[in-house]
Amino acid sequence: MRRTVGVLVMEHIAAGLVENHKTVGPLKLFPESTQSLDPLQSMPSAEFVECIRKQVESLAAEEKIEAIGIGFPGIVRNGIIEESPNLQQVKGFGLQEALSSSLTDKTAGVPVRVFNDADAMAAGIAATRGTLNKLFRVWTLGNGIGFGRFPSREGIWEGGHSVLTLDAKEQFCGCGGRGHLEGILGRSAMRKRFLDLEPEEVFENANAGDARCKEFVTLCHRALAAATATSIHMEGPGTFFVTGPESKFIDAGVLDRFLHEMVKMSPLQGSRFEVIPTSDEVGVIGAAVNAARATK
Ligand SMILES: [Zn+2]
Repeated sequence: MRRTVGVLVMEHIAAGLVENHKTVGPLKLFPESTQSLDPLQSMPSAEFVECIRKQVESLAAEEKIEAIGIGFPGIVRNGIIEESPNLQQVKGFGLQEALSSSLTDKTAGVPVRVFNDADAMAAGIAATRGTLNKLFRVWTLGNGIGFGRFPSREGIWEGGHSVLTLDAKEQFCGCGGRGHLEGILGRSAMRKRFLDLEPEEVFENANAGDARCKEFVTLCHRALAAATATSIHMEGPGTFFVTGPESKFIDAGVLDRFLHEMVKMSPLQGSRFEVIPTSDEVGVIGAAVNAARATK
């Protein structure tokens, strides 16, 4: 059986050995303990390579590895991070080539492939549910908002930057664009909107009845439903998964209700949401599965 290594860069760096769509042994994490601030925000490109190289080499110490897959936030094409709004320092960085040429000893020459992080999540959900022949669409909610699709298809797919409002005051998106989904639902954007409250407090206050926070929670759900409605109007209905650290704030029932107000044409009915707890493991498996498929 082919063993591959999957790496997921989403808020932190997780890496694992994958065989037959399952992880083998514990994941390697960087940093090893959780920190309140995003530890990757100020990490230079060369340190990403060094950190991932160390993780891969320790996973591959006893094993022969056939491929290495990395899920990384942003627009990724031909192994290059063309843009990553929440990790600006890596813009234009050739991660695939840099990691390939840093590998030594047992891992030297093992093919490396880099994918969008949300695409890796979508592949991981498809693989762990044993249905690699279906269309999977996934929203990943964190500092940024990712949109993943499996099977991956040529294109940009920056669904997190869908424009949902023409209100010029909606300018909190990490990319600087106005009216974007991420400008409402992204963790960094929430901090900019509520300078006095952490996102957790906003949702707690909404539960306790605070009018301003309640209004915002409704806006969040309408925003995610609207971006999903756009995807349905372009590619048809289906199941949409919601995952990532901020998915804990999301109520699938409320999303369903708003979505039904937004999608009315009968051939486009039948979509549903499923909120799944954030899991490094699923993204690690997805990155590995995508790399195995890409290097077969
Ligand atoms: Zn944006």
